[in-house]
Amino acid sequence: MTPIIVASGNGAKALPDGIRILRRGGSALDAVEACARYVEADVSDVSVGRGGLPNILGVVELDASIVDGTTHRAGAVAALVGFHHPISVARRVMDTPHMLLVGDGAARFAAEIGAEKIQNLTPSTRKLWIEALAAVGATPASVRRAKKLLPIVKRVIAKRLGTVNFIALDRKGNIASAVTTSGWGYKYPGRVGDSPIVGAGNYCDTIAGGACCTGYGELAMRNLTAKTAVDRLAEGMRPASVAREAIMDANALDPAPFNIVVLAADGTHASATNRAGRQYAFMDTSMTETATKARLVARE
Ligand code: ASP
Repeated sequence: MTPIIVASGNGAKALPDGIRILRRGGSALDAVEACARYVEADVSDVSVGRGGLPNILGVVELDASIVDGTTHRAGAVAALVGFHHPISVARRVMDTPHMLLVGDGAARFAAEIGAEKIQNLTPSTRKLWIEALAAVGATPASVRRAKKLLPIVKRVIAKRLGTVNFIALDRKGNIASAVTTSGWGYKYPGRVGDSPIVGAGNYCDTIAGGACCTGYGELAMRNLTAKTAVDRLAEGMRPASVAREAIMDANALDPAPFNIVVLAADGTHASATNRAGRQYAFMDTSMTETATKARLVARE
């Protein structure tokens, strides 16, 4: 089987880093972590890591998870503030007796393992935040003073979504998956999406395959989309049908933007969305460049 990595469209640039690892016989886990780190460090991506959009108070709260499809060990962090690579903190959580650390506890753990600290709000995302507040007549000072944030969140929030997904199959046939995000732009403080919730936004199983989501994360949590998709792969459904069914399940709850990437254990893959013009990316060890392909559109 040819080792391969499948990603959401915004992961395309990172794939050569992961493929380099798979080419030299490295693990799917190492490959997805390396790819996720690449995007976390890319300040031009306003949906992930440094340069990701902040919450309504201007604080960048990051969510990430990593899953080992062979052992079903997983690690995740949510609402992590002040660290450069949430995916690597998530990977270290995997080695503890716990699986998901959030907020202050996640930050404490990140500091204890010596994870790199950083201010994830950049001058340009600070500007975007201030402009988004100004559009509804608010300012940084007024939101900090506000007794109730939800009414402001509801006005500011324009479903500014985005996340990056990676699923890899290595030379030994092991599958791993990683998802990392700054979540919903201008969200309520403490809002956690599907990305760090194993089974919702991220799941894989080496026997069947993997699935990861982007878009309105609450839908992936309500449908346990990634786990459901992997169960469908295990039942023998092909990746294209699995991806389409996942979008139909989301559409049945809410018409908000929703996307999925699916990789089967035999290396075949597909992706679907409920919005036209969306791409996903993949690269295998025989390719010299990343390829992108249109996601299937499922609207019913
Ligand atoms: N799923 C992410 C979340 O809800 C956002 C996104 O992928 O667009 O936090």
